[in-house]
Amino acid sequence: MIALNNENNFDIIICGGGAAGLLFAHGLISDPAFDHLSIALIEKEQKDQNDRTWCFWEEGKGPWDHLVSRRWDKAIFKSKAFSKSFLMTPYQYKMIEGINFYNYLYPLLEKATNFQLIREEITSITSLKESCEVMTALATYTAKKVFSSLVQNHYKRQDKYPVLQQHFIGWFVKTEAPIFDQETMVFMDFDVAQKNNTRFMYVLPSSPNEALVEYTLFSKDLLEDREYEDEITQYLKQKKAGKVKITATEKGSIPMTAYHFDQHNSANLMHIGTAGGWTKASTGFTFKKSQEKINALIEFLKKGQALDKFQQRNKFNFYDLLFLDVLAKYNGEGSQLFSRMFQRNSPQRIFQFLDEKTSYGQEVLLMSSFPIGRFVKALFKRVLSL
Ligand SMILES: Cc1cc2nc3c(=O)[nH]c(=O)nc-3n(C[C@H](O)[C@H](O)[C@H](O)COP(=O)(O)OP(=O)(O)OC[C@H]3O[C@@H](n4cnc5c(N)ncnc54)[C@H](O)[C@@H]3O)c2cc1C
Repeated sequence: MIALNNENNFDIIICGGGAAGLLFAHGLISDPAFDHLSIALIEKEQKDQNDRTWCFWEEGKGPWDHLVSRRWDKAIFKSKAFSKSFLMTPYQYKMIEGINFYNYLYPLLEKATNFQLIREEITSITSLKESCEVMTALATYTAKKVFSSLVQNHYKRQDKYPVLQQHFIGWFVKTEAPIFDQETMVFMDFDVAQKNNTRFMYVLPSSPNEALVEYTLFSKDLLEDREYEDEITQYLKQKKAGKVKITATEKGSIPMTAYHFDQHNSANLMHIGTAGGWTKASTGFTFKKSQEKINALIEFLKKGQALDKFQQRNKFNFYDLLFLDVLAKYNGEGSQLFSRMFQRNSPQRIFQFLDEKTSYGQEVLLMSSFPIGRFVKALFKRVLSL
């Protein structure tokens, strides 16, 4: 263990040991440049439950391949009028179960001599002049730099940026009839009643009789649990699933907003993960983006600059903002928007765009798939509000 001035004083404190906190802690302990720093991670939960599954598309090999429990080379997009099956190549769609990630990372981190895990609930985080203070019910900790993945509610208390939620309930099911194609994941199936929202099924099959089936909305308001569950039941019935056994469930609500979360960073406090605005606003995907942000953050930290100088935004934030402006205003048209996108572009171009790796030329092609009027209106509104 690194010698500390006092046991509650660290060089770095990471608040929250979920996806972003663990990815970041792992990045730090894996890089010898940070060996001399004392690092604490404060997490309130035991993290012994499979509280979520993370999926993402990735080209070739990835750093977490040894934890990937399922992968798909084929996918399908569906809507009432249009359906497209496609090969993911050069990508694969990969799934990591939260519990495998926690079980691998917590013991690994705890082996590092400069790392300390503190299992306490954080009650406040305060950025001071030269340091940052983290309070729990039991103690006060200080650090030169604090990285927090605890989501605050600022984004809900403003109306400059629309806030949608990607909200869903997912059932891991075993069906009597072999209704799933285990080679093909269902990226979005809009062939469900839209009810003036953007609603779709997301299906990750693991055998002809087993899948994670998720009823998902991109909309402002959450539903009663019963409504998601009825839709999944109905969907499985339509597919003639026969008897259905639910082996596990998951539930989520992920903020989709172009709100500038980074405005709450300071020289010694940075928000990371969903709390830092690392969730892709137009889709809710966060896991792979967090890894990419952390790779950049690790290099940035070596320069010793103030944390609020870390570059967070790019042109894609503006595209996401316009998309969300349109989706929030015309929430019942999400199915058409995504259908047009998949009808007029190769999935590879779409994934590259969502990965924020396209050129201006490709972006123009992609954006020309959308109803131009709606987007031009949203653009004017944004430009006028600057
Ligand atoms: C069910 C579900 C499925 C998802 N699936 C995907 C997916 O397939 N692909 C994808 O890219 N994204 C997905 N996401 C979105 C996103 O990747 C995850 O939410 C991801 O876990 C976000 O990482 P994070 O570190 O920001 O937050 P979290 O992983 O939620 O970590 C925050 C941590 O802070 C801890 N904490 C909170 N408050 C306190 C406190 N006061 N004191 C101490 N600790 C505290 C929590 O216990 C938690 O461990 C999913 C989200 C959910 C909820």
